[in-house]
Parts: sequence; C-alpha cells; structure tokens
Amino acid sequence: MLYNQVQDLKGTIRVYCRVRPFLQGQTNGQSSVDYIGENGNIMIVNPLKQGKDARKVFSFNKVFGPNVSQEQIYVDTQPLIRSVLDGFNVCIFAYGQTGSGKTYTMSGPDLTNEQTWGVNYRALCDLFQISKERADVVKYEVGVQMIEIYNEQFTLTACTLDIRNNSQLNGLNVPDASWVPVSSTQDVLDWMRIGYKNRAVGATALNERSSRSHSVLTIHVYGKELVSGSILKGCLHLVDLAGSERVDKSEAVGDRLKEAQHINRSLSALGDVISALAQKSAHIPYRNSKLTQVLQDSLGGQAKTLMFVHISPEVNAIGETVSTLKFAERVA
Ligand code: ADP
Ligand code: MG
Repeated sequence: MLYNQVQDLKGTIRVYCRVRPFLQGQTNGQSSVDYIGENGNIMIVNPLKQGKDARKVFSFNKVFGPNVSQEQIYVDTQPLIRSVLDGFNVCIFAYGQTGSGKTYTMSGPDLTNEQTWGVNYRALCDLFQISKERADVVKYEVGVQMIEIYNEQFTLTACTLDIRNNSQLNGLNVPDASWVPVSSTQDVLDWMRIGYKNRAVGATALNERSSRSHSVLTIHVYGKELVSGSILKGCLHLVDLAGSERVDKSEAVGDRLKEAQHINRSLSALGDVISALAQKSAHIPYRNSKLTQVLQDSLGGQAKTLMFVHISPEVNAIGETVSTLKFAERVA
C-alpha cells in the first residue's frame, strides 16, 4: 500500500532546479544558462568572464528547463505528495530571487486556468482524489492552514482548523488546534480566497510584501484504517519563500533594511538546518528562525524535503543565479 518505496531509499532531501523562460518582450535576450543535462547538471555561463572561470556546472537531482510545463513538474513531485497519505511529513520549498518563478511553481499564474495550476492545487486535488479511492480501506480527514512569516512574526492568514482546542495535529507547532475538516478542492479554493482577503492589503502591496515574507500552506491528513483501527498522521507543507536576493546594504534603510536582515537570517537558518540534516549531523539548529521552528517536526526524522530552486535566465541576474545555485548545492 505504500507509495514511493523505491525512491525513498535514496534519502530524504531532494533538490530540483527550475529555469524560468524569458518573459514576453525579452525573448531575444542572451541566457546565462548554457546547458541543461538529463542527469541533473546545469551549466551557467558568464559572458563577462574569460576562460574556465566563465563556466560553472552545478548538479542536482533534476533540472527543469524553461519549457517544462506545470504538469511535468507535478509528475516529479507527486510521489512525495502521495506519501503524506501513508503518514509521512513532507516539506516542499520554493527558493530563488524575486521574479524567478517561485509563486509560479507553487500557486501558478492564474487560478482560473487549471492547466497552469501549480503544485499547491495539484497536490490538494490529488490528496482528495486518492483519499476517495481508498475510502473503503482508510477513512481520511484533511485540514488546511495558511500562515505568513514576515519579519520573524507569524500570522495565521486562513485556517480550517479550530486553533483553540488541541487534538491530533502534528507537523506544525501551532498549539491547541482541532479539526474542521474540508472535503474537496473547491472548499479549499473558496477558503483560500478568504485567506487572501484576510491579509487586507491591496494587490500591489500584497505582491510587494509577498516577496518579502514566507508563505506556508499546510495540509494535515489524519487517517484511520478501518480494519485495524490504526491511525495515520501526515502533513504536507508547501512553502513559497521570501526572495533570496541580497539587498544592497548601502541603499536599504529603516524598515527595508530590517526586512532584508530577517530574510537573510531565516534563509540561511533554513540552509543550515537542511545541510545539517543532509550530513546527518547530531545537532540540527532549528531554533535560529521562526520558519525552521514552525517546520521542525517536518524537517528531519522520517520527514521528506524537496527544495525547488528557481533561477532567472537573464545575464544581468547572474550574480543572484550563482548564489542561488551555491545555496542549493550546499543543501543537496
Ligand atoms: P517569484 O514568485 O519568484 O517572485 P513569479 O512566480 O511571480 O516569481 O514569476 C515572475 C514572472 O515570471 C511572472 O510573471 C510569472 O508568471 C512568470 N513565470 C515564472 N515562471 C514561469 C514559467 N515557468 N513559465 C512561464 N512564466 C513564468
Ligand atoms: Mg512570489
């Protein structure tokens, strides 16, 4: 009954790299990506450098080029998502500079067009679908919550769980939560719209701010095997991280500087935790940021992690591209 047993043997941290296409109007641009291999290699070329310094190869579990569809991306994510129904905890992160395609991968550009749906909605549909298929073996309940972490402050933006009465939740360190289960993707979509409204800021402001906050969609699954009565608990965290770009310290002042410092600190804390896990280190430094604290139960142990790192193809983004790929290599 377990999905994904073979892949599971390969370890619990995977890194996929996705290259955004050039945006409309820029199609003739020169690309910093020279080569994408089937084997997970990507070569970055810097036209400003000469000789062997001009080219650098990075290796990941997979690399997706600019023409890879949302559907293809999901095919390589699905086994991990399905394992949540077997009681695993899974974290999927989108990392990269602002504009590199994180939100495109996780949410997609247009909710009304299913073809372009990102991982979040496909995952929800899949989980509901499979839980229905298994209904005569396991009775599943699904609960969902959405949080935003901005300047190390945690805000619950929407929740189908009643946070006041604790019950069987795992995976998220929100104390005292109990179930108000949802039963279809449509329920969740309706509810997510409420969540976005709750953020109570205009669209432009929301977009601006969303690139400087981490947004975490958590899907809790609680299953009871009908014959044995045994309980399965799994949870899936889908995390659209704040933009990883370095802010020029000489230019940023006041609130902007404070935001940048919080982002840098939390992204490096995340990198530290994942690389400590990858190296099977005895001490995992979860306490260094709100994000790693919130996700603590779903990082490490039996949990599975997938990091989607995003890069922009433009030559003028090459500095950020290289630092993104270095970050990703460190956690791989
Ligand atoms: P981020 O969330 O990292 O700031 P976005 O997801 O908002 O970046 O992407 C920036 C722009 O690029 C958006 O207009 C988005 O629709 C477009 N885009 C990103 N990735 C892709 C892709 N794989 N295919 C087509 N357009 C993309
Ligand atoms: Mg975004």
